[in-house]
Amino acid sequence: MTLPRIHILALGGTIATRPDASGAMQMGLGADDLVAAVPLLAQLADIRAETVSRVGSHSLSFDQLHALAAKIKALDVDGVIVTQGTDTLEETGFLLDLLVERDIPVIVTAAMRNPALTSPDGPGNLLAAVRVACDPWVRAHAKALGVIAVMLDEVYAASDVLKIHPTRLNAFASPQTGPLAALVEDRVVPLSLPVRAPVEAARRRLGALTDIGREQPVALLWMALDEPGYLLEVLVDHRDQLGYRGIVLAAMGGGHVPERIAPLLTQLAEIVPVVVSPRAGGGPLLQQTYGGPSSEIALRKAGLIWGGRLNPLKARVLLETCLRAGLDRPAIVDVFDAWA
Ligand code: GLU
Repeated sequence: MTLPRIHILALGGTIATRPDASGAMQMGLGADDLVAAVPLLAQLADIRAETVSRVGSHSLSFDQLHALAAKIKALDVDGVIVTQGTDTLEETGFLLDLLVERDIPVIVTAAMRNPALTSPDGPGNLLAAVRVACDPWVRAHAKALGVIAVMLDEVYAASDVLKIHPTRLNAFASPQTGPLAALVEDRVVPLSLPVRAPVEAARRRLGALTDIGREQPVALLWMALDEPGYLLEVLVDHRDQLGYRGIVLAAMGGGHVPERIAPLLTQLAEIVPVVVSPRAGGGPLLQQTYGGPSSEIALRKAGLIWGGRLNPLKARVLLETCLRAGLDRPAIVDVFDAWA
């Protein structure tokens, strides 16, 4: 029986750390080390391992991820597993989901507990990821699943998964949709298929993105009680100097901001695309319930782009990608409308 060819791409992160002389954990392990720690992998798959980088995911760049996406697109294999840090996995996975369309499983995984601790989770997560990549249901539905994250024996859609705790083992969840599958014993138990229409709509607009374009910095601004808007003032007054090409605004409730900053937002929306996203982390924004100068009705009329149910971190990834692809404002509105 030929085993599925699974290609592991190691980026770095806690899963790839080892202690230095002082005991501090440094990014030191490569893909071969990760594979060597789990001898069982060889019985499940024909494993190929490649070290792409040894950096923490907090320092990854959009450019590096575009290069990674190009690499994944070109691989002649039956499944791809990316190992990385957990800190930005909810963003990197979503970006790969936007960039890579393949009919093989593409999985991101990581570790919360480093290899020097008792019961590190990296080896178990890598084993689980390989099991998922080799599973017949996952392989048959690879396109419908899109890029997936495997953490602590659960499978999540990259477009929904969030990091919800900085240290504990069960740090990942998809609060809006729940997991797509669970691992029990050595089996993958399917639970649901994700709604892919918004990602597919975005992909259609983004096109092939063969040229990765230039970085398009997007600021993420969190709205909070009595926010005075000084940063917004600077963005309006120094529009040419700050370098931001777009803004994601994590708004209160169904899409609200403090009344005192509404005029500034109207000005800002004339300068750069400003996407409104739920500060609550997800769940569809309102469109037509509340009146008043800083309600969803007023902000939509003022030209702010409605991010729907997309988490602010993911909205930022999507806006950067749209801007890189050179989409104009109506096209960007279209892309975000699909998440309404
Ligand atoms: N901050 C590091 C990273 O994201 C370590 C965190 C982790 O992997 O859990 O790569």
